[in-house]
Amino acid sequence: MSSGFLCFCPNAVIKAAQYVRPKNTFSCKHYTCKNRNSWFYGNELYIKRRKVVEQQRTTSHVSKLPFRQTWKAVSAQHTEDGECSVLIIGSGVTGSTAAFQLAESGIDVLVAEKNEQVGGNIISRKEQGFIWEEGPNTFQPTPDILVMIEKLGLVDKLVLADAKLPRYVFYQDKLHKIPSSPFEACQFSLLSTRGKLRAFLGAIGFAPMNLKKKEETVRDFVTRHLGEEVYERLVDPFISGVYAGDPSKLSMKAAFKRVQALEEKGVTQSLIEGAIIRMFETKNSKGKKETKGSLKVPRGSLGSFKDGLQMYPQSVQSKLSNKVKTGWKLIRLEKSGNGSSHQSCEDYFAVFQIPNGITKVIRTKALIFTSPAYITASLLRPFIPNASDLLEQIYYPCVVSVSLAYPSSSFRFPLSGFGHLIPRSTKIRTLGTIWSSSLFPYRVPEGYHLLSSYIGGAQDTDIASLSEDQVVKQVDSDIRKILLRQDAALPKVLGVRHWNKAIPQYELGHLSRMETIQSQVSETLPGVFLGGNYVSGISFGDCVSFGMQLADQASYYIKENTELLSSTVV
Ligand SMILES: Cc1cc2nc3c(=O)[nH]c(=O)nc-3n(C[C@H](O)[C@H](O)[C@H](O)COP(=O)(O)OP(=O)(O)OC[C@H]3O[C@@H](n4cnc5c(N)ncnc54)[C@H](O)[C@@H]3O)c2cc1C
Repeated sequence: MSSGFLCFCPNAVIKAAQYVRPKNTFSCKHYTCKNRNSWFYGNELYIKRRKVVEQQRTTSHVSKLPFRQTWKAVSAQHTEDGECSVLIIGSGVTGSTAAFQLAESGIDVLVAEKNEQVGGNIISRKEQGFIWEEGPNTFQPTPDILVMIEKLGLVDKLVLADAKLPRYVFYQDKLHKIPSSPFEACQFSLLSTRGKLRAFLGAIGFAPMNLKKKEETVRDFVTRHLGEEVYERLVDPFISGVYAGDPSKLSMKAAFKRVQALEEKGVTQSLIEGAIIRMFETKNSKGKKETKGSLKVPRGSLGSFKDGLQMYPQSVQSKLSNKVKTGWKLIRLEKSGNGSSHQSCEDYFAVFQIPNGITKVIRTKALIFTSPAYITASLLRPFIPNASDLLEQIYYPCVVSVSLAYPSSSFRFPLSGFGHLIPRSTKIRTLGTIWSSSLFPYRVPEGYHLLSSYIGGAQDTDIASLSEDQVVKQVDSDIRKILLRQDAALPKVLGVRHWNKAIPQYELGHLSRMETIQSQVSETLPGVFLGGNYVSGISFGDCVSFGMQLADQASYYIKENTELLSSTVV
């Protein structure tokens, strides 16, 4: 069976002539090979070599067998349908970023995505004049994202929401605007005078200290520093909106490292002291820092792309063309050393199920797993059973995203803002709603508003058992309490998506768990790198930055080992 990514280049033949490789395959190990479209394809040597490879295929029958038999054959012979230097599992934002960076640095990379579409959590839809998101809605444009946008040629597709759009918290039957300046904070109606005073005193250092330096939950950290009221009315809804999480379980150090680090900067553990010290540090280091790219955007703005966030992975896919395989589900992994041998540079054999019940085997030197923790656990269990148990412990609650459109006339006031969050103590079930058409007005037909709501999460696990209709009814009735007139028409239901395992929760112990997992992976599986939002942080920006780091690590590994290999051979 022919394969689109076996590498046939002159380097391969020169190498093959120099030594007989142990598995007697002639595929090129030259990771910078760019000769696929060269004169070589018409050359006699190429034709001869092609015949040898095809003969191998015919005699092995591997790719024509059903999976069980295929796997036996793979184990016995390690015959592959193709190979690459780095294989990336998953085409979400992490995998797409890593793939583009690797390809750009000349590494022979292949992305395998089990779904028919690229993007993972990112699902942008366009119908009947509406554009909406069923996963993430926006990103904060970090320097790394802006660099990637330039590299991918997406600058003219970038859309930015007005940074000044206010955010609200719905509490005691009222929308309260979140202050955007210290002056506004004094007039902040969400907190009582007592609550504000407690928060102010705590922030300047009159708060109990964490003398034993024990790992704290978000709830413990916030109530200790800023008081119960700030926690209940401000931080709890924020955590629901970002993590769909339970602040009394999330680890402050793992989930909000930068904020937690503030208390360690000064002598009083005061957050304000820490913030001032950080401000000076940043100022001093600004001169030394390299500017990352030329694209600049207003501070505080929120970004997306003209047709939605999915344009990001789609643009990587179109740049890498046949190096991105959709409908390819990794079902098994084996390594040449078999079992747990500690070799410095392994050959891995990845077995994929692809459409029509066909299986494919890809040989690779390095793998980047960006699949969710529980999937990665099942794939790596034969090699690292203990680390797989730990990966499986990472909890992903169910969240449902609901996109509803209402006529503009249904609203009690002109809709202008980012959206609203709802504290759990209010007993309103929806976690929060993004006023999508206020962020990006061109995404709706004239006369409509589009609202994207999220419901469920770690504090409302029963949501998983509700039907689509029940969820829509619940969200619609919550929106009516907050934004709509009594006589508002029923909504146009654009999209309802159950994310059964939505967002990884960085619970207490997450960092030490990850440390153990990473050390077992690097000891037992050289060349295997773990990525994805349970490692990097959950935001789009975290995933982009970590995708870049993964590409650097994998590229370094490949280059090191290629040099090692050629110096051993020559
Ligand atoms: C509902 C929701 C709303 C969110 N809102 C925001 C937001 O507004 N802003 C923000 O910054 N962040 C948001 N996030 C978080 C952010 O979207 C994610 O953290 C990020 O998209 C994760 O990207 P990833 O590449 O790490 O993982 P994923 O997107 O999960 O990608 C992993 C990929 O691996 C593939 N895969 C899994 N198993 C296999 C296999 N065996 N073989 C081959 N492929 C496999 C999957 O199909 C998937 O495509 C939201 C998340 C959710 C769920």
